[in-house]
Amino acid sequence: MALMITDDCINCDVCEPECPNQAISLGEEIYEIDPKKCTECVGHFDEPQCVQVCPVACIPVNPQHIETRDELWAKYRLLVAPNAS
Ligand code: SF4
Ligand code: SF4
Repeated sequence: MALMITDDCINCDVCEPECPNQAISLGEEIYEIDPKKCTECVGHFDEPQCVQVCPVACIPVNPQHIETRDELWAKYRLLVAPNAS
C-alpha cells in the first residue's frame, strides 16, 4: 500500500527529507505522497519513515492504492533500476 497525507498535516517539513524514494513533496496546500513512488519504505527500512517522524500522525495507508508486499518490492525494484528487465 502507498501511504497518504491527510489535511491534518501542519506542513512541518520533517517527512519530506526522510523519504528514501523522494515520494513526498509540497502540494498546493499540504504535503503529498506520490503513490507511484511510495513503497511503504519496503526495500529501504522496516518501518515507514514518514510515519515515524510525523508529529501529528496524519499519514495513514491510502485506500486507493492497496498493494501486496510483493507488489511493493516490484515497485521498489523499478524505482532503483528502471531500465532493468
Ligand atoms: Fe516515502 Fe516511505 Fe513514507 Fe512511502 S512510507 S512516502 S516511501 S517515507
Ligand atoms: Fe505534514 Fe506530517 Fe509531513 Fe509534517 S511530517 S509535513 S505534519 S505529513
